[in-house]
Amino acid sequence: MPDPLIGKIFDEFPDESDWDVVIIGGGPNGLIAGAYLSKAGLKVAVVERRYEIGGGLATEEIMFPGYYSNMHAVYHLLVDLMPVLRDFDLNRHALMWTKPNAQAGIVFEDGKSLLLTRMVEDTKDSISKFSFKDAVTFGKVMRGWRRIVTDIIGPATFVPPLSPLDISIAMQRTKVGNEMLELVERSPLDIITENFENDRVRTLMLYASCMWGLDPRETGIGMFVALYLDRAMNKCYCDGGSHKFAGALAREIVVNGGTILDAAEVTKIIMQNGRAAGVEIAEGRTLRSKVVMSTLDPQTTFFDLVGPENLPADLKELVEGWKLDKWSYYTLHVASKEPPHYACDDPWINDAFMVIFGFESMDQLLAHWDNVVAGKVGDNFGGHATCESYFDPHLVHSPWGGHVSFFQMHAPYEIEGGWDKRGPELEEAI
Ligand SMILES: Cc1cc2nc3c(=O)[nH]c(=O)nc-3n(C[C@H](O)[C@H](O)[C@H](O)COP(=O)(O)OP(=O)(O)OC[C@H]3O[C@@H](n4cnc5c(N)ncnc54)[C@H](O)[C@@H]3O)c2cc1C
Repeated sequence: MPDPLIGKIFDEFPDESDWDVVIIGGGPNGLIAGAYLSKAGLKVAVVERRYEIGGGLATEEIMFPGYYSNMHAVYHLLVDLMPVLRDFDLNRHALMWTKPNAQAGIVFEDGKSLLLTRMVEDTKDSISKFSFKDAVTFGKVMRGWRRIVTDIIGPATFVPPLSPLDISIAMQRTKVGNEMLELVERSPLDIITENFENDRVRTLMLYASCMWGLDPRETGIGMFVALYLDRAMNKCYCDGGSHKFAGALAREIVVNGGTILDAAEVTKIIMQNGRAAGVEIAEGRTLRSKVVMSTLDPQTTFFDLVGPENLPADLKELVEGWKLDKWSYYTLHVASKEPPHYACDDPWINDAFMVIFGFESMDQLLAHWDNVVAGKVGDNFGGHATCESYFDPHLVHSPWGGHVSFFQMHAPYEIEGGWDKRGPELEEAI
């Protein structure tokens, strides 16, 4: 309503509006879908619950004024393979990724260390401190595993999924496909122990292969060892903070005529005759659309927003069977005067994007993961750390200078004894 004294200042966003597509969630998946669909000419609305878009790409001032931290996704594993970088001119948003040469290191209590670098040859040099045989094997297997990633797994991430039978038939046609099929049947633990003899080399390789959630003893997922080891040597950092990527994608949506509603929580997916017909948001507005895309987990989407009474029995059963990953992350963000310094035999470790510590052997690593799955974090835990401001000085805007880092480890959602008690103990130990 126009104000009777000052008249109409601007058109209010209507209580009811019509769209070609409504996307729930302004994280990377919602923003990328929104960017493509609005570029294709559709009228798109992205609806985000938080005051800031980005989801897992959030970069926030959580510790002290002037010290920014990346809350979730720091290691952009597949960004250099993502079509979105080619399909949109993201350079015009001054978007830049850096790929540190020293990618992931592990330090041991006796000061020895081991490094995964972008270059296979440098990694071989580091491995040869422990085992010449493992260094040679690493060079040999990575040559094949890299091709599995660049020729098969990487591109497969960006096309509609094939049925397992079609994948198997396609794989049997090429040499690299057959190499992948050979890996598939084995567990990560088998692949690492069969290929490498030195326990410390195995510890690093297993950590890098399984840190994103693979079960080390599960068979049928062996090809992901190739993917995660290759990506452990190719992680990128988004200069300016991960949020900058979200900001660039959001601007692409808006430039192409789309709309982003932030601080707008979807409370209901409206159903008509068994089909989605739009969404309701907490402030009371309705966005009508024949297409509703949700980037939320299946139980939130179908049970909380659609309502189980609106689901066919087979879909309901599928959603009931969906489970969260077996572990989550515990992250401790730290502001310090100096970047962390690791007392070890290789000064290059201090330049590493990720430094793993706390694990002296593969058995200790496996015991930590078993504990986590059982809802515990024992005293022999380990994890990885990154000094973000070492790579990105933009994160510190304080006259006192200094650095921001984080330590991250696998952790259960619910911990034995409760997070209120165990959390401060872990913080102290770290
Ligand atoms: C601690 C941690 C560390 C991680 N580190 C990495 C990493 O280093 N590298 C990497 O590649 N990946 C990492 N990930 C994973 C990565 O963050 C996710 O894969 C990615 O964010 C998933 O994107 P998404 O768009 O599907 O979901 P999200 O990023 O979760 O976005 C979903 C969005 O939906 C919004 N939302 C929720 N409910 C509603 C609602 N009712 N209405 C409207 N909006 C709603 C949320 O606020 C959120 O913004 C990490 C994840 C965590 C938790």
